[in-house]
Amino acid sequence: MPESPSVLVVGAGLAGLVAATELHAAGVSVCVWEAHSRVGGRCRSPAVGPDEVRLDLGAAWHWEEHERVRTLADRLGIERVRQHEPGVAVQEWARDEPVEPFEWPETPPPSWRLVEGTQALHERLAARLPDAALCLRHRLQALRHTGPAVQATAQTPDGPRATSVDAVVLAVPPRLAGHTLQFEPALPDALSSALRGTTTWMSPSAKAAVTYDRPFWREQGLAGRVRSAAGPVHDWHDATTPDGHAALVGFMHPPGPDSPTPSDSGEQRAALVRQLVHCFGEAAGAPTGVATADWRHDPATTPPTGPKPGPHAPPDPAPILQRPQWEGRLHVAAAETATEHPGYLDGAIEAGRRAALTLA
Ligand SMILES: Cc1cc2nc3c(=O)[nH]c(=O)nc-3n(C[C@H](O)[C@H](O)[C@H](O)COP(=O)(O)OP(=O)(O)OC[C@H]3O[C@@H](n4cnc5c(N)ncnc54)[C@H](O)[C@@H]3O)c2cc1C
Repeated sequence: MPESPSVLVVGAGLAGLVAATELHAAGVSVCVWEAHSRVGGRCRSPAVGPDEVRLDLGAAWHWEEHERVRTLADRLGIERVRQHEPGVAVQEWARDEPVEPFEWPETPPPSWRLVEGTQALHERLAARLPDAALCLRHRLQALRHTGPAVQATAQTPDGPRATSVDAVVLAVPPRLAGHTLQFEPALPDALSSALRGTTTWMSPSAKAAVTYDRPFWREQGLAGRVRSAAGPVHDWHDATTPDGHAALVGFMHPPGPDSPTPSDSGEQRAALVRQLVHCFGEAAGAPTGVATADWRHDPATTPPTGPKPGPHAPPDPAPILQRPQWEGRLHVAAAETATEHPGYLDGAIEAGRRAALTLA
């Protein structure tokens, strides 16, 4: 490897952007190819409702032990807020039965959100890169190891693009890489099956976010927390901002034939509001904004074709995923490859740093 290698980072999720910014800060020539027209990966924090409250339709929380997230947010000047838990939670058993208030059986471990949403981490990191270093709508298709270099080809809106670099950081979900990318020469069987066999944390999930003109549930002594067996959302949480913009976010049953969540977006919105009225009363009938995301249909998270993944479980990364391949020219660095908190934001930071430290 040359003393100052040129590095292609694939994926502008947290792992990729941590790797890219740390390499850039170390003087390495770096370029990021991202399939989508936005940075953020599994963090998407759209501005919802007339007050444009940024709410997390992907990753939202970090916990005490996720020190890397806390430190990075502080360094990037992003304010954190403790998840609101005080008050009484609500259990919804069935649509036609009254809901039951209940006290939490135990205090949940404290968690925090980022006031601007987790996508803000990515936006601030991307702003630290030279403009030309971030290439959006570049979907990597193939990597070819030629000996002294790696040749990469991507699909872009202007047609195919090829480049030759000293090393590649593959910061995309391993299962997606294993099922959708071409490698020449073929990867060793052990690595190939480790990529394909690593679950992509939370990828079978769907989320909903709703804004209101005031957090009326707090006025009723409620926490904004719902556990539901009826759906569409099975787990609502209070996402009200510190300056009082009222919001709830929750995990939906992904739409499908046997799901309580309709597929049509209009019907979905009506079903969400119906559920909230059932849980909180008529005050919930007039949301100011609604947004949803279904991660099963993001082709840059979940392979669009190929076998269905097995039961969803936290990733348990095979050590081979943490070792550079192709004589140190290929590094796999997604959250799922971390040694601590694999699959989580904290793990993404660890994985991105590991690749950057090896290459800088
Ligand atoms: C609904 C949901 C809720 C979650 N909740 C939490 C939470 O509360 N706390 C927590 O810590 N974690 C949570 N997670 C997990 C968290 O989102 C991930 O750990 C983290 O975002 C992963 O970062 P990453 O950079 O490894 O991968 P990703 O964020 O997946 O980034 C990969 C990037 O690669 C791009 N890409 C893919 N293929 C290609 C290609 N061929 N060419 C170019 N680019 C490509 C993608 O578009 C994406 O931008 C949640 C995830 C989801 C989906």
